[in-house]
Amino acid sequence: MIEKSGFHVPNRIARYMIVTLQDLMGENGLNAVLRRGGLPDFQTILPADDMQNAFDFADYSAICAAVADTYGPRGAKVFMIRAGKAGFLNGIQSFLDNYGASIAATGKLVPLSFKLPLFLRWISKTYTESSDRVISVKDMGDHYLYINHRCPVCWGRKVTAPDCHITLGFLQEATHFISMGSNFHIHQVSSIAAGDKSCDFVVPKHPVQNT
Ligand SMILES: [Zn+2]
Repeated sequence: MIEKSGFHVPNRIARYMIVTLQDLMGENGLNAVLRRGGLPDFQTILPADDMQNAFDFADYSAICAAVADTYGPRGAKVFMIRAGKAGFLNGIQSFLDNYGASIAATGKLVPLSFKLPLFLRWISKTYTESSDRVISVKDMGDHYLYINHRCPVCWGRKVTAPDCHITLGFLQEATHFISMGSNFHIHQVSSIAAGDKSCDFVVPKHPVQNT
C-alpha cells in the first residue's frame, strides 16, 4: 500500500474511474485487481457520488498501479483510456452548465483556434480549483502543453514509461468534444512517476486530417 498523501480528488472523479473499470472488467474482475493492489473491494472503495474533495491520491494511484500490474502496460492503457473518456463524458454536463453552453451552441461559428485553448485552460483551472491537482497549459507555438504538476496517477509510484493514460483518454475526449468530432494526436511526453518534474501532454493545435 502507498501511504496516504493528504492530497485528494473529488469523490465523483474517482467514482467515475472505478465504475468504468467495473463496467469493463465486471465486479469480480475489478475485485481481483483491487485485491492484488491490497485495496478494499469494489463496494467498499467506491466513494459517494458527490464533489467533496476527499478521495486520496494514494488510493487513486494504487488502483492505477493494480490495473497496470494485472493487465500489463498495453492492457492497462486500453482500460485507463476508456476510463478517462468516460470521466470526461460523465463530467461534461457541469461544463455546459457553468461555462460552455454559449460555445457549444455557436458550434462551428467559433474557430477551433479560439475554442481549444480556452477549453484546455478552463479544464486546468477547474481541476486545480476543485482538487489538489495542479495543472497549467502552455502555448508552445505549434502545440499546447497540458502540464500536471501534481498527479494522482503518479503518486508514490515508479514507472519506466509515462502511463497517465486516464488523463490521455480524458484529453482525447475533451478535444473530440470541443472540435465537434475531430481527433487529435495527443501524447504524453513526461511523467512524475518516471522521474520527471511533471506529467506533460502534447496537444496539437490542429486535428488529424481524415483521409
Ligand atoms: Zn502522472
